[in-house]
Amino acid sequence: MLKKILKGSDCASCRICCVFDRYDLWETPLIDEKLYERIKAEFPETEFVSKGDARLMKMSEDADGLYYCPMLDRSSGCRLGDEKPFDCRIWPYRIMELGGKQVISIASICPSMYNKPLSELTGFLDESGLADEIFRYADSFPEAVKPYEAGYPILKVRE
Ligand code: SF4
Repeated sequence: MLKKILKGSDCASCRICCVFDRYDLWETPLIDEKLYERIKAEFPETEFVSKGDARLMKMSEDADGLYYCPMLDRSSGCRLGDEKPFDCRIWPYRIMELGGKQVISIASICPSMYNKPLSELTGFLDESGLADEIFRYADSFPEAVKPYEAGYPILKVRE
């Protein structure tokens, strides 16, 4: 989804979005029903926790105090290939709710994207159709919309 703005090689050498600390566990990707069925079939050892009508993959604390996504192969990357959770496909863009409005924000932790000019980040949302796609997804899967977190710059407000 972000291939035109974010180089695959940058992601391959980083993968910071697949590792969480105890403060950003809320950022772990939501798993919709279709993906849940696939993960259950292909990776039956995966455990899930419920979040409203959705699910999250259970992540256990590693010896270094971090939580690694169970789909992360530390040498070759995401085991889900192109069929990742929607949260992962749009990351570091995030869909959040602030004051009753949906907003698209960006996670500052992504070094490749956060260093881009604001005009490029917002322009990509509109020109690629990604903003519309994110809002459509939010309509179909309201659990995907997270409460606004301070420190996430807002790039677009849904009218
Ligand atoms: S599902 Fe894949 S892309 Fe998403 S956090 Fe896990 S390993 Fe990373």
